[in-house]
Amino acid sequence: MSSVILVTGGSGLVGKAIEWVIENDKSERFGKKEGEQWIFLTSKDGDLRQREDTEAIFKKYKPTHVIHLAAVVGGLFKNMKYKLDMLRENMLINDNVLDVSKEFKVDKLVSCLSTCIFPDKTTYPIDETMVHDGPPHESNFGYAMAKRMIDVQNKAYNEQYGCNFTSVIPTNIFGPHDNYDLEDSHVLPGLTHKCYLAKKNNTPFIVGGTGKPLRQFIYSRDLAKLFIWVLREYKETEPIILSVGEKDEVSIKDVADAIVDAVGFQGEYSFDTTRADGQYKKTASNEKLLKYLPDFEFTPFNVGMYHFDIAVKESTQWFLENYETCRRGH
Ligand code: NAP
Ligand code: GDP
Repeated sequence: MSSVILVTGGSGLVGKAIEWVIENDKSERFGKKEGEQWIFLTSKDGDLRQREDTEAIFKKYKPTHVIHLAAVVGGLFKNMKYKLDMLRENMLINDNVLDVSKEFKVDKLVSCLSTCIFPDKTTYPIDETMVHDGPPHESNFGYAMAKRMIDVQNKAYNEQYGCNFTSVIPTNIFGPHDNYDLEDSHVLPGLTHKCYLAKKNNTPFIVGGTGKPLRQFIYSRDLAKLFIWVLREYKETEPIILSVGEKDEVSIKDVADAIVDAVGFQGEYSFDTTRADGQYKKTASNEKLLKYLPDFEFTPFNVGMYHFDIAVKESTQWFLENYETCRRGH
């Protein structure tokens, strides 16, 4: 049977990883299937904040399935600076993509949330039932509330119109094609770029905050496989957390150490404790995921431990090889 899978945000970190898996993975579960046509959108195909652009895209491609990734995305410092933009622009994009998917009778829509939408004050590990249990961390409440609304919308579209809409909740993501801007990016690409410049210019490498906060990182190509599995096999409307295990949580200092090693930076580095730490931790449980996919292998495993440093080396290598053309601000 033929299907057209439209991926919004197809040029971003996650979109590029899904494209890579679809083109390169030969397995039955994750690889491209006969009769499937995958369309990876960028903002050049249309501005999803605009209803007319969104409708025109759906009219052109007539998707049977949608993976909705497009969003105004950024790390802690961008979230703190642009709270209203993160709220409004993401709400506009999501409202258009979900409603036009209903109008065009899409068979299935998978949207992307994030673990930063969970309540700040909570018990650990966090699980899928806790999305609406209390206010998110104040540093990113704009982005978080726009994302939480997708879960509310999915339930409403399902209950009123029978739409097959669901969502996934990834932890912090990293990999090739990330945004390496110095200020508006996430911690891993931002620090990789800063460390690269410190090495090149013989200047100090300074990490924002105390280095103590804890995060779970998922490699974009692992996440891509899980997205494809959710699109094909996951039947619930309720979200599912896509994460490495709780034991694989690392501190921001661990992240900085892995980057220093991957970049080959020889100097000392320091922490600018005047800068924000954001949420201390958001440790998420992957129990639900592992009930469905007990044998899923995160890249690469070594005696049960996620080899974070190896994966960081791979994405740092990508940054160095693509320095001239990648997104890095200035
Ligand atoms: P990204 O690299 O910043 O890519 C964003 C994508 O959205 C790009 O393809 C961009 O198109 C597109 N886009 C942005 N505004 C648009 C608009 N108005 N109209 C049409 N397209 C637009 O983001 P990402 O890191 O891949 O994130 C993908 C999803 O994962 C997002 O929903 C994000 O919230 C979620 N997520 C990310 C992380 C993380 O650590 N990165 C963690 C948890 C969840 P252009 O390239 O043309 O600008
Ligand atoms: P978050 O997980 O949503 O908070 O997003 P980030 O990927 O932005 O990670 C934020 C954590 O990394 C905070 O504890 C920051 O203090 C720390 N951090 C250290 N240096 C940087 C940096 O250069 N950029 C970013 N985004 N975060 C940094």
